[in-house]
Amino acid sequence: MVECESPSDDSAAVARFQELLADSLAGEAICRRSGANLVCTFQLPGKRKSGQIMALGHADTVWPSGTLQSMPFRQQAGRLHGPGVLDMKAGLAFFMFATRALRELEIAVARRVILQVNSDEETGSRTSRALTEKNARASAAVLVLEPGTGLEGKLKTARKGIGDYRIKVRGVASHAGVDFEKGASAVLELANQLRRIAEFTDLQRGITVNPGVISGGSRSNVIAAEAEALVDIRIPRLRDAAPLDRKFRSLRSLDRRCSIEVTGGLNRPPMERSDGVRKLFTLARKLAKELGIDLEESATGGGSDGNFTAALGIPTLDGLGGVGEGAHAVHESILISRIPDRVALIAKLLAAI
Ligand SMILES: [Zn+2]
Repeated sequence: MVECESPSDDSAAVARFQELLADSLAGEAICRRSGANLVCTFQLPGKRKSGQIMALGHADTVWPSGTLQSMPFRQQAGRLHGPGVLDMKAGLAFFMFATRALRELEIAVARRVILQVNSDEETGSRTSRALTEKNARASAAVLVLEPGTGLEGKLKTARKGIGDYRIKVRGVASHAGVDFEKGASAVLELANQLRRIAEFTDLQRGITVNPGVISGGSRSNVIAAEAEALVDIRIPRLRDAAPLDRKFRSLRSLDRRCSIEVTGGLNRPPMERSDGVRKLFTLARKLAKELGIDLEESATGGGSDGNFTAALGIPTLDGLGGVGEGAHAVHESILISRIPDRVALIAKLLAAI
């Protein structure tokens, strides 16, 4: 699966990976494409099915095609390495083996089980979000196969919400030597605005605002006509979104000759640790104990498609995939010793929910 590279921006490669997955599940699940995404319905032991469990993953990775040359799939010192091995091909492989174990051991599963494999999670889930939400609404629980936290493999029971804002400033261009007073610098105006925007961060409440990209101006001897900034926001609670949005929308230019245009907003709502999430974690913890694992939970500032399902109020448990480190980094790897207990935990959850 790792050797079948699948960068988000190469739809043919992502589709090839989804086909590989569907082929591997032949005879065990019926897989259908829905747009660029894949939904597999499993045939598991147990007579009457009531309700549904949805497992959620993504086929795409952040690694461009050809990464395998410098970062080959390999086994070394108790780990598996390679692009996308942790985020999140391990999780998909684990799910495949968990459902296979349930079939082979004839362990009854009371609910219908589906696996949705999105094509665009790493780039914001624009084409998959509606499908994720539709399938989640029909589910009693959502199991997200993203990596666990840290080398302990903590589950994720809270994720921050994520948004993007674009701040575009228009000024008045003029010759920096001949007509200095006639110009109104968009670059200077943006710099002043960024000072205000940085103050929107409230670390105590977990709200962060990061102007990550700025651009503007054309030459040093021209007073800049345009400048813009791209700003990433993270919020732990949905109720933080509106007040923060109001702050962005109320930015006014200090130099009246400049204008400011603010676009953007929340992209992923936060996954809040609701009662439903807490109950699901308590169950997972109990099942892990039977495997001799002391399972812990964690909160993260990173988002996943679990943000969408949790925001609908559907109990969602995230981080059930690989245990390792280095997602999106060259040392991306999973611990081989933690594969069996992870697969067993997923299987136990499917049988218990
Ligand atoms: Zn991921």
